[in-house]
Amino acid sequence: VTFKSLGLIDPLLEALEQVGYKAPTDIQVESLPHALEGRDIIGVASTGSGKTAAFALPILQKLWEDPKGLFACVLAPTRELAYQISQQFESLGSAMGARCAVVVGGMDMPTQAIALAKRPHIVVATPGRLMQHLEETKGFSLRSIKFLVLDEADRLLDLDFGASIDKILKVIPKERTTYLFSATMTTKVAKLQRASLSNPVRVEV
Ligand code: AMP
Repeated sequence: VTFKSLGLIDPLLEALEQVGYKAPTDIQVESLPHALEGRDIIGVASTGSGKTAAFALPILQKLWEDPKGLFACVLAPTRELAYQISQQFESLGSAMGARCAVVVGGMDMPTQAIALAKRPHIVVATPGRLMQHLEETKGFSLRSIKFLVLDEADRLLDLDFGASIDKILKVIPKERTTYLFSATMTTKVAKLQRASLSNPVRVEV
């Protein structure tokens, strides 16, 4: 299986060559065809599986087809993970012009507000801080997003981000694509899945 045979467009194939990913990982093989068809995805996979590219690639492909407004929101449990995710979006997407902003707790709100005002396509955030920007940063909203990613959903819920996530779900379009990735499928994750995904394909590696 090659990235090309999974249906990725040339600008992404070139970026993949640049970063040196020679072949797709199992989670990428399983999820990309469904994701490129527009399905919601539940990925049961942990760090190291290549899950980040599994959700970044289809988002970047759809962004390339229709680059309008703030396009995707990725929720991650920790700052470190948020920065890693944004680095992958940038290494795969910057040649295509994709712009990413990171919004995490413990950092300066005004600096983040300036980054959000620069009209990124993708916002990678921890839920609490994202909620704070939705409430306090003038002109920032998630009303135009086409994609929501809940990464490491089990950890998001263990860290008590459930309430923030519920609030975020209320202010984003109902018509969107959602990807949920989790290392484990707990009762809480299943509940979040029911609240946020529609007719998802489940992929497990
Ligand atoms: P992740 O599971 O998303 O944290 O990814 C784990 C590591 O694998 C990261 O350093 C990625 O850059 C790398 N990676 C992701 N997909 C591939 C691939 N198809 N080939 C080689 N490395 C990859």
